[in-house]
Amino acid sequence: MEELAIFGGKPVREKKIFYGRQCIEQDDVDAVVATLTGDLITCGPKVQAAEKLLCEVTGAKYAVLVSNGTAALHLAAMAAGFGPGDEVIVSSITFAASANCIRYCGATPVFADIEDDTYNIDPESIKRLITPRTKGIVAVDFTGQAVKLDEIRKICKDHGLLLIEDAAHAIGTKYKGQPVGSIADMTCFSFHPVKTVTCGEGGAITTNNERLYRHLMRLRTHGITRNQSEMAHPTDALWYNEQVELGFNYRLTDFQAALLISQLGKLSRFSQKRKEIAAKYDAAFSQMPELQVQREIPESDTTRHLYILRLNLDKLNCDRRQFFDALYAENTCPQVHYLPVYWHSYYEKLGYEKGICMNAEAFYMSSMSIPLYPTLTDEETDDVIRAVKKIVAYYRK
Ligand SMILES: *Cc1c(COP(=O)(O)O)cnc(C)c1O
Repeated sequence: MEELAIFGGKPVREKKIFYGRQCIEQDDVDAVVATLTGDLITCGPKVQAAEKLLCEVTGAKYAVLVSNGTAALHLAAMAAGFGPGDEVIVSSITFAASANCIRYCGATPVFADIEDDTYNIDPESIKRLITPRTKGIVAVDFTGQAVKLDEIRKICKDHGLLLIEDAAHAIGTKYKGQPVGSIADMTCFSFHPVKTVTCGEGGAITTNNERLYRHLMRLRTHGITRNQSEMAHPTDALWYNEQVELGFNYRLTDFQAALLISQLGKLSRFSQKRKEIAAKYDAAFSQMPELQVQREIPESDTTRHLYILRLNLDKLNCDRRQFFDALYAENTCPQVHYLPVYWHSYYEKLGYEKGICMNAEAFYMSSMSIPLYPTLTDEETDDVIRAVKKIVAYYRK
């Protein structure tokens, strides 16, 4: 048996690779530089052009670009009208921002469990958590796979709830042939460098609802309007604008928008490459009883953001920590997505207890994400597979 690198053996790779990495090419660089010498470097034509392109990519009527994905979630939660006394149901396996946006509005996040095989929010768990105070749902397309949108939208319709889809992982994904972004009441995207397309920091909300769109646009710029119909003291004076509510400065610069336009042009290429790598991992791991491969629902045509390696711990003589450290030492570095949100000490202090989402907790204890990004080479993909197999062989019961 091969000696693991963590115990002094030769690592599978000499140079470390990580779970995610952006792909910036020369034409992306040129697009940014060209914008920098233009008349407007923020709030200019590139922001509008990027919003128009996002509408084309997602099929949504409206798009609002903002400074990051967390800002997108914050404004969506505000436009949804979440406030003190309201409960909002949210996935338990997600980045903290999905729940924090509910807290920003003074509302109460209620954590729903995930399905044991798709790792997405379980519609049955949502149903069990609904009370007369429930106002909405924040559903996360975890790893890029669309949540069960038909079931979740039916629950929303039956109970008068508003649906925010956190699609930070899911740009390019389709549900029953329809792009994510045009299905929920509001869909939030992130363009952080680990996500499928990036502009450094950036985010967006898409919606088909004109009222929500106008509200989001106003919240993005301090709650200030130039539209007389929204003013308490309307005037046609050219200089006049009026702050009618408390908003933020969540604007994106034009040079970031230029980068986003350039990157969106590569979405189908990036998406194809991610799918190919995920398929290669699936083929390598699906026959191994020590590992569980994520189930895809047939409705989702997934642009995979994360590849989850899930351990069947009862078939291995190690725990997740040992496996993770061994994989790290082979220089095929994994990451963990995510700690159940309510395990963070901030939420613990608010009174959330362990044990409320059993599938989420079991998932966290047995999983890690392995490298997946469009510039990962065939050789690197093979190295990851070799490293995983080497460690499984070592710890196999
Ligand atoms: C990345 C991410 C966010 C936050 O996006 P930022 O652009 O980093 O603020 C929110 N939700 C999920 C699920 C994410 O992965």
